[in-house]
Amino acid sequence: MAENKVQQKGKLIIFSAPSGSGKTTLVHYVMAHVPHLAFSVSATSRPPRPGEKDGVDYYFLSVEEFKKKIKEGAFVEWEEVYENQFYGTLRSEVERIRNRGDSVVFDVDVKGGVHLKEIYGNNALSVFVKPPSLAVLEQRLRHRSTETEESLRKRLDRAAFELTFEPKFDKVIVNDVLEKAQEQAVQIVRNFLETERV
Ligand code: ADP
Ligand code: 5GP
Repeated sequence: MAENKVQQKGKLIIFSAPSGSGKTTLVHYVMAHVPHLAFSVSATSRPPRPGEKDGVDYYFLSVEEFKKKIKEGAFVEWEEVYENQFYGTLRSEVERIRNRGDSVVFDVDVKGGVHLKEIYGNNALSVFVKPPSLAVLEQRLRHRSTETEESLRKRLDRAAFELTFEPKFDKVIVNDVLEKAQEQAVQIVRNFLETERV
């Protein structure tokens, strides 16, 4: 859900994709290769995966804590991406990054991506990361070994719906050969930061 307009000042780069497309992998690469970017750490009510750290990968909250933050207006946007699994972009996070002069990178679901683009308009670049096929997406999710069979099903069931959002994005990257997709992502971000208007 998009929640009121936000004052425009810096640049924002939004990566969205069905789960397993390689969005996190590409975001990490871009952050390591383009200066003055900072990641907007979202809040979520899903439990941490092994290796994920609170405040680094996400702010991990209970469903009750998440709903309290919705009422307080703490989110720029939030979505119930999977049943009872909430994810949201924290206003405080975006402001903290922009106030120190960095550009903000978002890793959000397709609906969140479209909402953020609506809110920030030409200050934002929205990038859709596409898997070569649904079969490859399933292979990657299985290979990542982070999901239970139930969670994997939920993600695959939603993926076909998420793929229909492609035309709503500014740029599309097909993540087939990883090195190519990484270079493309860096190029797209650099071009946006250097040439398009704030
Ligand atoms: P997302 O953040 O979109 O859910 P991840 O970045 O976690 O996706 O990628 C899903 C899995 O696929 C990870 O195990 C990752 O290492 C792997 N992966 C990402 N891109 C590629 C690629 N181009 N070729 C093969 N495997 C990939
Ligand atoms: P995961 O559980 O795999 O980390 O994330 C599931 C989905 O939620 C991914 O598509 C991810 O991009 C999305 N997501 C993460 N943070 C946010 C957020 O703040 N807002 C929205 N709308 N989606 C998010």
